[in-house]
Amino acid sequence: MEQKEDLLKEIISHAKEYGFIFPSSEIYDGLSATYDYGQLGVELKNNIKTFWWKAMVQMHENIVGIDAAIFMHPKTWKASGHVDAFNDPLIDNKDSKKRYRADVLIEDYIEKIRQKIEKEVEKAQKRFGDAFDEEQFRSTNPNVLRNIEKIQSIEERMKSTLENNDLEGVYNLIVDLEIVCPLSGTKNWTEVRQFNLMFSTELGSVSGEASTIYLRPETAQGIFVNFLNVQKSGRMKIPFGIAQIGKAFRNEIVARQFIFRMREFEQMEMQFFCRPGEEMKWYQYWKDSRIKWHKSLGLGEKNYRFHDHLKLAHYANAACDIEFDFPMGFKELEGIHSRTDFDLKQHENLSGKKLQYFDPEINESYVPYVVETSVGLDRMFLSVLSSSYTVEKLADGSERTVLKIPFILTPNKVAILPLTKKDGLPEKANEIWNRLKFDFTCQYDEKDSIGKRYRRQDATGTAYCITIDHQTLEDNTVTLRHRDTMIQSRISADELLVKLSETCNWSNFLKEFD
Ligand code: ATP
Repeated sequence: MEQKEDLLKEIISHAKEYGFIFPSSEIYDGLSATYDYGQLGVELKNNIKTFWWKAMVQMHENIVGIDAAIFMHPKTWKASGHVDAFNDPLIDNKDSKKRYRADVLIEDYIEKIRQKIEKEVEKAQKRFGDAFDEEQFRSTNPNVLRNIEKIQSIEERMKSTLENNDLEGVYNLIVDLEIVCPLSGTKNWTEVRQFNLMFSTELGSVSGEASTIYLRPETAQGIFVNFLNVQKSGRMKIPFGIAQIGKAFRNEIVARQFIFRMREFEQMEMQFFCRPGEEMKWYQYWKDSRIKWHKSLGLGEKNYRFHDHLKLAHYANAACDIEFDFPMGFKELEGIHSRTDFDLKQHENLSGKKLQYFDPEINESYVPYVVETSVGLDRMFLSVLSSSYTVEKLADGSERTVLKIPFILTPNKVAILPLTKKDGLPEKANEIWNRLKFDFTCQYDEKDSIGKRYRRQDATGTAYCITIDHQTLEDNTVTLRHRDTMIQSRISADELLVKLSETCNWSNFLKEFD
């Protein structure tokens, strides 16, 4: 656990040092849970977006994209349920003045009991050695059994109080468990209150005329309200999908864990409209399709798992998450939800406009059912960054830090390195840069020894290094070094474009993925 926390810290500092991610407005000591993407971060982020867009929109004949405004009519959020039900229960500690999510405090308490159980098992394992039967120990040891029972009873109480919106019950549970504030160490709590996660602001500059509007907490609603516009103008036939990438805002109470939980973040969402009764078929289709998309990046099959939702949101008839093994453990990366006709029906009710589709094949009009895939772009970024961060011991005893980002996503595909700053080598390097710049993001670097320059490129994940030396001037050959294998080969400068395209070109990558 501790090691994993250290890993996250290392990744955060690496990301800052090399221009991937900076704390927002850092010169003013930053703004909590808000981050800026730097010069390399923006390239990686754009490449992730490109892969999603090409796989979803370009490669599906029946999916189109839109880019809706962040501001929407306030009734949108009434219809979607966000005004009334997009809440987290919060509690303040009066001594530290720190605010917590009440359910998270209780979950952390449960986690501590779980860790106690694991310690007990570990201890017994050491004591009994090879003769240890873990399963039997877990099912018979009185301490373990008592703790399991304790967890179950807390979980039951938490579930029923939260489901019934019984805030006093949540407060009583915290008091009964004698949970203390991690900062002040006291039990001096305020009552539990509901906290709406939407950011609001005022529209219009004339006072009186101003009205409250919200920064969208999800991009999905921009798709729902445009359902008919797109269907009619694009002459779309059901089943079809609408995709969108855009910012979403949530006033998260407990916003930590780097870019995993931010107050301003980006979502890549697709709503797939289908015939009522066919939604489970499409739900399964999209589960298969999305996990394939993730795994095609080669970040490690074992890093992904599905987690079915036990308690379904009011609008869903099936839902699951794709979880990723982040430095903080397995957590939600993407959600796949069968949202029924809830959203479109709600918008019909509040707008008074029909949002129906006439299906010529069955000669019937209906409100379509929707299957949604929703992945956080920033969480995707963290999954790529954390799984590619590697510290390697080399044969000569030295170490190198290398970001093994998939070539198709990595910010720079090539670094062009003249061996020295003179003898016409920079000019030759420039010529090569000018030839490759149309197809690939290239970096030019002529400072320091070649070894140091290789290390710098490894640390930012550059796929290939091309070194130009005196021989290049004679026979037009260069040294091409592969990031992961570090193997160097001498090839003609004229072959570079073809060679790099094998691994860094979208069309080749997508053909492999399809
Ligand atoms: P969580 O349970 O972690 O709060 P959620 O279930 O509320 O997430 P959804 O509403 O399903 O999340 O949003 C879809 C996706 O948007 C998530 O799978 C996640 O990748 C991303 N996402 C949601 N909230 C945040 C956030 N605060 N910061 C970054 N990404 C987020």
